[in-house]
Amino acid sequence: MKRVLVTGGAGYVGSHACKALADAGYEPVVFDNLVYGHEWAVQWGPFEQGDILDTQAVTQVLERYRPDAVMHFAAYAYVGESVTDPEKYYSNNVGGTLSLLRAMRELGVNRFIFSSTCATYGVPDQVPIPVEHEQAPINPYGRSKLMIEQVMEDYAAAYGMGACALRYFNAAGADPDGLIGESHDPETHLIPNVLRAATGDLEYLSIYGDDYDTTDGTCVRDYIHVTDLADAHVLAMQHLASREGEFAAFNLGTESGHSVKAIVDAARRVTGRDIPVRIVPRRAGDPPVLVADATLARQVLGWAPRLTAIDDIVGTAWKWHQRPVPQTGNGKQSQNA
Ligand code: UDP
Repeated sequence: MKRVLVTGGAGYVGSHACKALADAGYEPVVFDNLVYGHEWAVQWGPFEQGDILDTQAVTQVLERYRPDAVMHFAAYAYVGESVTDPEKYYSNNVGGTLSLLRAMRELGVNRFIFSSTCATYGVPDQVPIPVEHEQAPINPYGRSKLMIEQVMEDYAAAYGMGACALRYFNAAGADPDGLIGESHDPETHLIPNVLRAATGDLEYLSIYGDDYDTTDGTCVRDYIHVTDLADAHVLAMQHLASREGEFAAFNLGTESGHSVKAIVDAARRVTGRDIPVRIVPRRAGDPPVLVADATLARQVLGWAPRLTAIDDIVGTAWKWHQRPVPQTGNGKQSQNA
């Protein structure tokens, strides 16, 4: 069976990628430091606890498992924190990835699938955003991801690495089988917070601004189901099988946008509950509209997101949110994009 090393495989998107890999007949080997990841999320293959900054530890794991490819999710992903503590982001997201790539070169592992983000575009001047759009990130988190994309392009040209950057729009939802889902602390993302307001865990949902130039004044985002994201990683890895020395980037989104208020409405339908909201000032650095043009992923990877209806996306998140027992293992939460 072909093996894949999944860094950050105990995190939100990483664990869903492991499930998709197992479903496609691969063995995912999770490498995660559990600073934010959850041991309970590792369900489809071996687990190796370690830090990507520790090149020797990564080298040992690569030696032991000899994977055919690496999917790299381990990263810090709080935009606000990246502004106040950029060192943490450049050290881990950039330095950690360089360390991982060094170990891969040493062991001759040369297929690399990278968890990137639409935050590399900054404030777009064209929506939907095509993959060729200029990348001008407006915070250290986005810059750290763009830096790695540039490193990948250079490594592909110089070292023959096959490298794929997947730029996610808003990862959302949870495994439809209910085995894994989103679990961040602190939780900053919209859909989990809307659901917390539905259960009374939050007194109300804060809507960050209703004076944007959008249909209802609230920000519009492209919510892409995490299972569809996970599938794209498997397709990207298969695409790289015959492509040494190639760097490619793809946008992953549904290509349709939903406002914050539309998400609240969807959650009201799905939960059947009242969701109190309050309009509060804008959050710094929020572009008004981010919607993907995912043409390239559809054409080149043959990718077609399946869980695109917003009620289905919110519905799977709601099912996860209502899971009966607190999970065992590491009580800390996911770092991963
Ligand atoms: N948002 C909000 N209240 C919240 C969390 C998010 O109004 O409690 C808004 C946020 O301003 C953005 C959208 O919801 O316009 C999606 O935010 P999220 O943090 O989920 O993802 P981002 O787009 O920042 O990656």
